[in-house]
Amino acid sequence: MEIKRTLLPANKLKPLFSDPLKLQFGRNFTDYMFTMQWFKNKGWHSPEIKPYGPLLMDPACNVLHYSQEVFEGLKAYKSAAGEILMFRPRDNARRLNMSLRRMCMPELPEDYFMESLSELLRLEQRWIPTVVGTSLYIRPTAIGTEAALGVRPSDEYLYYVILSPVGPYFAEGFNPVGLYVSDDYVRAVSGGTGEAKTGGNYAGSLLASQLAKEKGYSQVLWLDAKERRYIEEVGAMNIFFVIDGKLVTPKLTGSILHGITRKSVIQIAPELGMPVDERSLTIDEVVEGIREKRVTECFGAGTAAVISPVSKINYHDKEYLISETTGPCALKLFDTITGIQSGRIPDKYGWVVTVK
Ligand SMILES: *Cc1c(COP(=O)(O)O)cnc(C)c1O
Repeated sequence: MEIKRTLLPANKLKPLFSDPLKLQFGRNFTDYMFTMQWFKNKGWHSPEIKPYGPLLMDPACNVLHYSQEVFEGLKAYKSAAGEILMFRPRDNARRLNMSLRRMCMPELPEDYFMESLSELLRLEQRWIPTVVGTSLYIRPTAIGTEAALGVRPSDEYLYYVILSPVGPYFAEGFNPVGLYVSDDYVRAVSGGTGEAKTGGNYAGSLLASQLAKEKGYSQVLWLDAKERRYIEEVGAMNIFFVIDGKLVTPKLTGSILHGITRKSVIQIAPELGMPVDERSLTIDEVVEGIREKRVTECFGAGTAAVISPVSKINYHDKEYLISETTGPCALKLFDTITGIQSGRIPDKYGWVVTVK
């Protein structure tokens, strides 16, 4: 890939933040972005690295009306030796393509994905914070850019990558959060787009999230659309419970996003002495289990927060308290996964990719 580069003079670069732990998630962006276009008769072309800034697009373009949009989220870390590390980026490349297929958008060759990330990261490495709990969040995105109001897949697309230095995801930091069970609204239906990482899923979820926040809960716990009994996932995370000493997570049903953190937890937990059960799980079993003190922990798993402990669940306006403090399973998994990601713990899984 022959990447065109437009670089800034040193005195035009943004100053680095003074305290990376105080960075709010997704509010700060680096100096450059990667962009590449796709035309029907040309395929992917014109890869570029250029100063971060607004995109020029036609007000009639597809993404603004019919939402052909998919994205990914992963993190880069800097090891103590100064190497740039990415966590399982090829899994993101494969999932991006799964999302693109679902949204009728052209796939991106895995090597293009990898190169877009590594070229941008190499240029922007001064932005990778090194304090424990911080990282450089990578947001690859693709949108339909053809200007046409007819409902059909776009003939033109833009793929771009932006970078955002981040501290802990939740304002609460690594403190347990509360979840609100939605059964008036659903996130995804069987046969719908729940498995694709596409913005529309989020647009449809905002109202329920807003209601949850008004009631004092930081995220929504989603149930299945048909029976409104089976637990699916949380906002932007998959969900785990410790029930009778075993880790339980909903099995993938077609409407749950295939989380890479989820997959990593499932692989790593048994080796840390935590057996895992992927199965269907109802909200009734969970509230019953909390009442009987058989549910001892609950946590979300996703790239942004990695592991996010859950203290309480509100279901039908009753609050079920699990624990005010972070439990040992959540803590162990958080330390192990972030340890591997940042190079502090040896990676025996081959998950970490060093940018050469
Ligand atoms: C991205 C995302 C997740 C978590 O996936 P990771 O690969 O672990 O970051 C979970 N649920 C939804 C809806 C998501 O968009």
